[in-house]
Amino acid sequence: MSELSLAYIFHEQQLLVDDQMQLPQVEKLEGDLSFQSGDQIIARDLKQGELIPEGFKFVPIRQLIAQWSATQFEQASRAMQLLEWRRNHRFCSHCGEQTEIHPTEYCMVCQACGYQQYPRINPCIITIITKDDQEVLLAQSAKHQGDMYSLIAGFVEVGETLEQAVAREAFEEVGVQLKNIRYLGSQPWPFPSNLMLAFHAEYAGGEIQLQEEEIRSAQFFAYDQLPEIPNVGSIAYKMIMHITQEKAL
Ligand SMILES: [Zn+2]
Repeated sequence: MSELSLAYIFHEQQLLVDDQMQLPQVEKLEGDLSFQSGDQIIARDLKQGELIPEGFKFVPIRQLIAQWSATQFEQASRAMQLLEWRRNHRFCSHCGEQTEIHPTEYCMVCQACGYQQYPRINPCIITIITKDDQEVLLAQSAKHQGDMYSLIAGFVEVGETLEQAVAREAFEEVGVQLKNIRYLGSQPWPFPSNLMLAFHAEYAGGEIQLQEEEIRSAQFFAYDQLPEIPNVGSIAYKMIMHITQEKAL
């Protein structure tokens, strides 16, 4: 009997866990992604017809953020992003031939032309904008229903610095100018492969003007009169708590 591995088994943005949110132990299969040294931790997508071990069920990944430690979630997040990347790079983007899994690295190799494809992350800035250390600018996304207000965020464009991306997104989405743009921290965000880069900036001028395809409402809120904000575990929540309640980020 071969040794069992702790397994991240995914199925449609859900992960297989038991009632205590623990991972199953399974036999490693051909093509499984190995983690760390050896095969103690593996990851794969649920195989067609694969039996689900007793006591286990699929739980949406987002639900795990609130229940797992940051370290646990980071590993799950890495597994999810690597599998997603592998699924999307089965062919060479240079010549179109089928790729093969590199034996030791996270890399998809094309035997025909030698091109090597590595996992990519998408840098995405998220900004908490404050006025006079008393009010915070929060916005409602046009893409989501409900009462929740969050922070201004967007992808960094080719050739742009992070600070330029922060200033551009704020101007495009809500029409305001910023000053004192400062880096706060970062969080990998596996939906699908983003690296969230958190900034704090101060309001410098301009009337709030909404980019309606992106934002349906935006306003300044006093630190002690916040509306509904994103869930615990998200970087937006941590940033809002950090600035308005002086909590650690
Ligand atoms: Zn190729």
